[in-house]
Amino acid sequence: MSYDLVVRGGLVVTSERAGVADVAVSGGRIAALGTGLTGAVERDARGLYVIPGAVDGHVHFDDPTFPPYATRTADSFATGTRAAAFGGVTTVIDFAQPAVGRSLIDGLEQRLADAAGEAVIDYGLHLNLRDPDPDRLAEVADEFERGVCSFKLYMAYEGYRLPDAAIFRVMQAVGSRGGLTVVHAENDDVIGELTRRLDTEGKSGPAWLAAACPPAAEAEAVHRAIVLAGLAGTRLLVFHLSCREAAHEVARAKRTGRAVAAEVTSHGLVLEQSLLDADGLHAESLAVRPPIRDAEQRAALWDAVAAGTIDVVESDHCPRVPRDKTHPAGVSGVEARVALVHTFGVRTGLIDLCRWVDACCTRPAALFGLDHKGRLRPGSDADIVLFDPRKRVTLSPDTLHSPLPFSSYEGIEVCGFPVTTISRGEVIVDDGAFVGAPGRGRFVERGI
Ligand SMILES: [Zn+2]
Repeated sequence: MSYDLVVRGGLVVTSERAGVADVAVSGGRIAALGTGLTGAVERDARGLYVIPGAVDGHVHFDDPTFPPYATRTADSFATGTRAAAFGGVTTVIDFAQPAVGRSLIDGLEQRLADAAGEAVIDYGLHLNLRDPDPDRLAEVADEFERGVCSFKLYMAYEGYRLPDAAIFRVMQAVGSRGGLTVVHAENDDVIGELTRRLDTEGKSGPAWLAAACPPAAEAEAVHRAIVLAGLAGTRLLVFHLSCREAAHEVARAKRTGRAVAAEVTSHGLVLEQSLLDADGLHAESLAVRPPIRDAEQRAALWDAVAAGTIDVVESDHCPRVPRDKTHPAGVSGVEARVALVHTFGVRTGLIDLCRWVDACCTRPAALFGLDHKGRLRPGSDADIVLFDPRKRVTLSPDTLHSPLPFSSYEGIEVCGFPVTTISRGEVIVDDGAFVGAPGRGRFVERGI
């Protein structure tokens, strides 16, 4: 039997095991794993890791409406998905963000139009619901029909945050259909109050962000989200968990069998809080919420990843050019994430290869209902990445593929980087060159 493509002799790493094998592809799907497989096209992967294409369930491409400003993110679906492909990512999930007063389906249509003909890898959409109007709730079922089964709610940011009663109602509507509720969990009232007090003392800017956002203010909101999700009967995902205190809340919920999951960002795991003390563009760009924290907190986050308390590592890719202190921050990590977790997690011994693949590929796919993604098993989409564990890259605008003039991870050296990316059986990145067709990416309707 000859296959369309065989990736030969690499160390195949899945969420469960690692071993040398061939991976065969036919018709855009994984056809077989084994030894001595032959294909019309063969790729020598000896010395490389062969992993499932990574899934990044938290990106903001061409994002028009981040609170409270109106500057779009620097990446379009075209440039963002291309950078993702270089970083070993074959599926992303972005957001439809219908404005308050607008129909949810209109909002979805508009985002689908933004991505159509642009994306070079497959993509899904979460629905960011920020309008508590009962008419919007009535549209939740229509979103499920269209393959959108995850709803993002903000507990922070004026103009975005919903009161608990509205959160509870949306959670019930989502939960009754088996969907996933995703939250940005911070106690916004406390953080607002602390920010104002610091301001009056002349303490403003990135250096004071951590003081304005104490871990307990995050943990309280995480706890509240877990309670509300339990009352409403929905699966819950907490985005960008940033501290030990919040991880404790998730761990406790998991111990009692609750359907609660947590995400940590690659910048939350890797970037040091003291970077915020510097003046200038770089610090401004890193002033995200919840904030990047100190080494002790980052060690606790890695422990939580290793223990499975934190399920997935994603990028929250949100490339912006801050022009002054009043412009929003955003870290761009869609390309570097898989390499960063390998360098700072696997090579340091904090997690093993299988957990790396699990956190970056397999568990996000399972969490978000991407049935054919994130696994190297017969029948799955042939999304495959060849990863060279010895390739050293110093992260900078010269080595990454974002249109931003600076890198969030400027000067950090990673050891190990994707060299070939295959999406549904097509090689789209080959040895540092993009060779995919523009606009080839497809919208993935997700199930529950
Ligand atoms: Zn985000």
